Amino acid sequence: MSASNPIRQRGPIDLPKVEQAAADLLSGLGYDLSDESLASTPKRVARMYEEILTATPFESTTFPNDGEYDELVVVRDIPFHSLCEHHLLPFTGVAHVGYIPGPRIVGLSKLARVVDLYSRELQVQERMTAQVANWVEETLQPRGVGVVLEAEHLCMTVRGVRAPGSRTTTSAVRGMLRHDPRTRAEFFALVGASTGV
Ligand code: ZN
Repeated sequence: MSASNPIRQRGPIDLPKVEQAAADLLSGLGYDLSDESLASTPKRVARMYEEILTATPFESTTFPNDGEYDELVVVRDIPFHSLCEHHLLPFTGVAHVGYIPGPRIVGLSKLARVVDLYSRELQVQERMTAQVANWVEETLQPRGVGVVLEAEHLCMTVRGVRAPGSRTTTSAVRGMLRHDPRTRAEFFALVGASTGV
């Protein structure tokens, strides 16, 4: 991973420490951990956070663009789940990732892997959108990149303004998708998002 495109630095996950913290959280909230039905909750919570914050490693093998394909490639509706860094509550939704190939192309399933990679972090949606776009830009040197994320944030749904069903849309466009109005409009029409207009 290149320096301009970092995943947040963090140490290894210390499961016993997370488990203790979950126990402290419950007792701080006034719950009695000797209650049989809560006894295993700290352990489950620790394993859950480990799972949510661990991405599956993958090989980002690229291929030469032999056919010299120079139109948009768009993978729509890639589901993702991430964790809002302000409240530790999930935000979930779909990502649409598109690019106009330059010298290299990538297996389409890898684009879903990249979304997964950046979702398994404490995140804000805006940063995650930019990180996915940066990965595509740096790995493939495409002529253009477009990434749109649409997500529902539990921290908006269950607290604060309590706006269930509201979705937040973010986008990052680079190269031709940023500078050429026709290509940009084509991309946003393909993903069915209105951000480009
Ligand atoms: Zn939040």
